[in-house]
Amino acid sequence: MIKYDLRCDKGHLFEGWFPSSDGFEEQQKQGLVTCPICSTKNVSRALMAPAVKRANIEKNISKSNNINISENELKTKIRTLNKLIEKNTTDVGKDFAKEARMIYKGKKKDKPIRGSATSKEEKELKKEGIPFIKVPWVKDN
Ligand SMILES: [Zn+2]
Repeated sequence: MIKYDLRCDKGHLFEGWFPSSDGFEEQQKQGLVTCPICSTKNVSRALMAPAVKRANIEKNISKSNNINISENELKTKIRTLNKLIEKNTTDVGKDFAKEARMIYKGKKKDKPIRGSATSKEEKELKKEGIPFIKVPWVKDN
């Protein structure tokens, strides 16, 4: 069986199954292929771009969108952001979750901190409503 995308003269699109590629023309000649929406017999095969070609077009589009920002530029931008954070926060390393919680509860002086947290700690912070943001970090080479 072969599936065809079909279109009637009013522009309705539908699918039809035929025993072979000749089957469609055969059935169309005999007036057996009708539009399920308006019942017209003026039906032809819809022109469809082959899937492979379409994938290529999409690939090219996404490629051209990426021209404006290269991986290196992106890294530089993230690095700039990282430096800004480094300058304005205190590194508490692996104690981030603990420190953030103490500051949040007023047990420690409010100050901007940075550090790392495990995904378990992250979940706990979220659950407790303690605000934090995750920032991509680019290491110096
Ligand atoms: Zn129709």
